[in-house]
Amino acid sequence: MGRQSGGFSPETARKDFPILQRLVNGHPLVWLDNAATTQKPRQVIEALAAYYSATNSNIHRGAHTLAREATEAYEAGRAAVAEFLGAASPENIVFVRGTTEAINLVAQSWGRANLGPGDDILVPVLEHHSDIVPWQLIAKETRARVVPVPLGPDGQIDRTAYADLLSSRTQLVAISHASNVLGTVPPVREMTALAHRYGAKVLVDGAQAVAHFPVDVQEMDADFYVFSGHKIFAPTGIGVLYGKPEVLESMPPWQGGGNMIDSVSFAHTTYAPVPQRLEAGTGHISGVVGLLAALNWLTSFDRGAVAAYEQGLMSYAQQALSMVPGLETVGAAPDRIAVLTFTLAGQDPATVADWLDRDGIAIRAGHHCAQPALAHYGLETAARASLALYNTSEEVDQLVASLRRLTDSAPS
Ligand code: PMP
Repeated sequence: MGRQSGGFSPETARKDFPILQRLVNGHPLVWLDNAATTQKPRQVIEALAAYYSATNSNIHRGAHTLAREATEAYEAGRAAVAEFLGAASPENIVFVRGTTEAINLVAQSWGRANLGPGDDILVPVLEHHSDIVPWQLIAKETRARVVPVPLGPDGQIDRTAYADLLSSRTQLVAISHASNVLGTVPPVREMTALAHRYGAKVLVDGAQAVAHFPVDVQEMDADFYVFSGHKIFAPTGIGVLYGKPEVLESMPPWQGGGNMIDSVSFAHTTYAPVPQRLEAGTGHISGVVGLLAALNWLTSFDRGAVAAYEQGLMSYAQQALSMVPGLETVGAAPDRIAVLTFTLAGQDPATVADWLDRDGIAIRAGHHCAQPALAHYGLETAARASLALYNTSEEVDQLVASLRRLTDSAPS
């Protein structure tokens, strides 16, 4: 049995995941790589099968029953995402491939239209590469600057430095709602309010947040909020860009093609209103169907109880890991998600991951697409166990036992 918290028991969630029944190297799978991607509940798998078995059609065109049904499913997904994020309207939701594409869209569309020489884009050092490189690309083109916001020793964003770096030159602040390597949950509402005082826009990368705690984009006052379906129990290849209506409406197309136009002629082409203007071509219709099923599945739980359960499991894991000789955790911000990045004395992180895999335990080793965050700790690579609502204290015990066997077997 897993640890229980309020109204939530992980066993209720676990039974929905067929993959958690499989053996890996002769052991039951222990999936602790949730920050990379989450597993999919049968409700999502069945929704995809049902869509392709009974509904498959392109949308927004074709006057037939299946086109209508597929369009309804796609737009129901948009409405569900709007509700999930606390957005004012489904029209504030643009479907994309994932977080990376959403950020590139904002950089290429909003960025190209709004950035110029001497403008600043503030990016905390803990960001994922997908919240750094798209800004570097557009900054190079527009001769704007990407300015890193430093971290404190525990992995929190240095708030004094942030306040000092903000100026009338700041056009955009791009912050993660939760770090994929340090677990840090920055005070995005306060940081957003401060940025707005300088007239800057704020993009919040929710890739690591949405699966773990409730999000309200209007309360946070974010101008943009982005996430990937695959990190919230939905399929790969579908993601979300939320934008404030007036900001989205001001954005020029970033890709051209079908679906995004109003009328086309060689003399003059006009564009559709948002969100369609930013969704060129056939979208990932089944991905939206899967995302809708995933959101319905997740919100069937008491999300406050889920968050409390994950926080309890994280404390348990931190305590248990601290007993492993030579293990050091990376990042210690007080507000954090259950991402446990660590090093083990004398062991290469890749060797640690390989050892654990022999026991059926999946963790991640490498730079976690956040090289500046690791460099802040003088590291190039680290191991990372990341937890989700279906993980249990027994699985944490198995992780710790396997790590102890590794340290015991290592020559001292
Ligand atoms: N931002 C953060 C904080 C992430 O953790 C990730 C994925 N590790 C991404 C962005 C990129 O997400 P995707 O690869 O799904 O586009």
